[in-house]
Amino acid sequence: MSPAIENQAPAAALPARDAPVFSPADVTVVFVLGGPGAGKGTQCARLVAEQGFHHLSAGDLLREEQDRPGSQFGQLIKDYIKDGLIVPMEVTIKLLENAMTAALKEKGTTKGRFLIDGFPRKMDQAHKFEEAVCPAKVVLFFDCPEKVMEERLLERGKTSGRTDDNAESIRKRFRTFIETSMPVVNFYEGQGKVIKVDATPSPADVSVTTSKLLTEKLSS
Ligand code: UDP
Ligand code: MG
Repeated sequence: MSPAIENQAPAAALPARDAPVFSPADVTVVFVLGGPGAGKGTQCARLVAEQGFHHLSAGDLLREEQDRPGSQFGQLIKDYIKDGLIVPMEVTIKLLENAMTAALKEKGTTKGRFLIDGFPRKMDQAHKFEEAVCPAKVVLFFDCPEKVMEERLLERGKTSGRTDDNAESIRKRFRTFIETSMPVVNFYEGQGKVIKVDATPSPADVSVTTSKLLTEKLSS
């Protein structure tokens, strides 16, 4: 990482709070995890269509903020994403909280169900989000061999325009996933919150399995 990145201050510290902004009695949070290219976004889109979840992709929110004119975090986000590193959590958590608030407001309700896609990817994010924003009910984990993910990402890279869908960034993203994000999956596994889905079959087949397991888990 360049010194320029290290020296940039993260977002204003998240305010200390006595309780999370959203109560789990009103708001259902499902974290959606899996390596880069495992199919998180694809499966979330299907769950939105079938089950009426709100879908919030942490990566998409970061890319949006990166491109927002006047954002003080544009360059920082750009550098972290290209290097496959995790953006300082204050930035991502604030973007998620704002998006959740906006989604509920738009529907004129305090109750909602959210798929939080590609987050938390690091233990500090997991703890902070649950403490300050909303405790999570379930973690969907899409399990996929690296070889398959690599093929999918290189294919996507032909048209995605993403700065991190190239061989070098992909290698770095895999490393971050194994070293930093798998501990999050294991942590939630220990809490009995994880639904593990084999992500190698076709999107339609994975979707059938996911939908069934998620419905069962949320009603149990
Ligand atoms: N990212 C981050 N914090 C997050 C989620 C994503 O810093 O909580 C950054 C990270 O650099 C990651 C990139 O955004 O490699 C792309 O994430 P995205 O979820 O869009 O990629 P996917 O895994 O879906 O290919
Ligand atoms: Mg994605």
